[in-house]
Amino acid sequence: MNKDLSGVGMTSQRTRNRLIDRLREQGIEDEIILNIIGTLPRHLFVDEALAHRAYEDTALPIGFNQTISQPYIVARMTELLLSKGSITSVLEVGTGSGYQASVLAKLVDTVYTVERILGMLERAALRFDMLGLRNIHYKHSDGAMGWAQRGPFEGIIMTASPTHIPEALIEQLIIGGRMVLPLGVGGLQELVVATRTKSKFEVEVVERVNFVPLVSGKL
Ligand code: SAH
Repeated sequence: MNKDLSGVGMTSQRTRNRLIDRLREQGIEDEIILNIIGTLPRHLFVDEALAHRAYEDTALPIGFNQTISQPYIVARMTELLLSKGSITSVLEVGTGSGYQASVLAKLVDTVYTVERILGMLERAALRFDMLGLRNIHYKHSDGAMGWAQRGPFEGIIMTASPTHIPEALIEQLIIGGRMVLPLGVGGLQELVVATRTKSKFEVEVVERVNFVPLVSGKL
């Protein structure tokens, strides 16, 4: 394997295995997800100056005032999205570095991801190419409207926090489909799973989280 991808020193497999042990200790049980996080080169998704910290279980800056989520949160949200069995199509709102989309690309047939900051999306797209992830489709847009032309989706994941569950997104889920999101109410954010039902949706609260806010409009 190419040395950039396989890593050395603080980006080596040994360092990545320590991260996986930590995620297991925190209750992540899905071995397939753990294996993907242990294999995917997270150091290529952060600035080079921070590469040595890429396998710490922490959020890191990715430019444009945004952050790549903590690996534990990526693992947890991915587990929640797939907890009712495997799914074939997912929409992600908030591409950011492209890391979460890349994890999903290893688990589902097709990933759709939207990002409001063009410069961020362009960098993520280079990473998808470099990693040969051809099942990720991306778009520069305000994700609060979803991506209706490509829906309905079996799952939706939001990686920026809205203050209420966007109805437009629920409508782009199949009945029984799940949306995993950090819902921010009054400064407090909770990770929730919203499941679409025939009439509306049901919400389950999982744990407290801390995401960047969902912002409207494009940059
Ligand atoms: N999933 C990302 C983490 C992203 S941080 C990763 O794995 O790196 C959240 C991202 O959501 C930021 O890039 C931010 O620009 C984007 N974002 C915020 N509001 C948005 C909106 N309305 N539509 C699309 N993207 C949005």
